[in-house]
Amino acid sequence: MPDGEQISLFDWQGTETVSEAVTHEEISASPQVPIPKGFYQNLQELTTHCQQCQRCDLAPSRTHVVVSRGNPEAPILIIGEGPGQHEDETGLPFVGRAGQLLDKILASVKLDSQNDVYICNIVKCRPPGNRTPTPDESAACKPYLLEQIRLVNPKIILLTGATAVRGLTGDKRGITKIRGQWLAWQNYLCMPILHPAYLLRNPSPEPGKPKWLMWQDIQAVRAKLDELRQIP
Ligand code: SF4
Repeated sequence: MPDGEQISLFDWQGTETVSEAVTHEEISASPQVPIPKGFYQNLQELTTHCQQCQRCDLAPSRTHVVVSRGNPEAPILIIGEGPGQHEDETGLPFVGRAGQLLDKILASVKLDSQNDVYICNIVKCRPPGNRTPTPDESAACKPYLLEQIRLVNPKIILLTGATAVRGLTGDKRGITKIRGQWLAWQNYLCMPILHPAYLLRNPSPEPGKPKWLMWQDIQAVRAKLDELRQIP
């Protein structure tokens, strides 16, 4: 089938129907083949498929595809930018110094990184030199992210840093302008927060500084989660 025909055949959105015609092989080989909403039955199937993915230029240099860590039924889904060196080596997101700080931030409001959150990234393969993913790379990987969100179906999505905000919502505002604000995206409640790596570079706890701002934001997230849990 010519590429043009294939694209138009699957160029639709907004239904849970799964196309039988598009195959894993076609999807994983080309960013031109959209991944239909509802394509994956579960996260294990998605993970297995991601591990074979060649949809963008990040594939050749990766060691591991980094899909997620945490609880697939968590109430909070956290999205980062992309894997760094430790993540590429281990196959798990947010396990370097920034990840350890993220776990401490969560623990400060009694959120457990094993049970209360599911963590993933905009792109699942490491950009060389930890550069920001390109728009093409983010777009090629985004359908996997959308499927992760659909399957986890969290109460709250946290977007760590400007790349995560832009990658999911398209909002190009600076992170310092929108951090701590609740955003509605596709019926999900999202909050942009500072990236933990930024806090490592700005460790002052003084009021108004990044670390202090994160403390305000994570307390607001905890309060919102408690509120949502009381709604039947
Ligand atoms: S970053 Fe995403 S789209 Fe690109 S090769 Fe990895 S899994 Fe595939």
